[in-house]
Amino acid sequence: MASIRLDHKNCEGSNCGACAYACPTNVFSFEEDDISVKSPDFCKLCNVCLEVCPQSAITIEKIEIAEIFEGI
Ligand code: SF4
Ligand code: SF4
Repeated sequence: MASIRLDHKNCEGSNCGACAYACPTNVFSFEEDDISVKSPDFCKLCNVCLEVCPQSAITIEKIEIAEIFEGI
């Protein structure tokens, strides 16, 4: 699983959308002028969104299953 964060201060939103177009598993979605992380569970950690983002506005952190259970 992955924790995906967008830095909305630097993100160009729907003027860009490169991450949403590039992601093979539709993790991102357009919300009017913004881009949001809609389905982080679908992330395959392929890093394509990181490569296409012109603003380096995306941070992805891998979450190990064990860490999820530790938080319960
Ligand atoms: S790392 Fe790959 S699968 Fe995950 S959000 Fe980015 S483009 Fe999509
Ligand atoms: S690629 Fe980067 S700048 Fe473009 S919409 Fe996605 S997060 Fe925002």
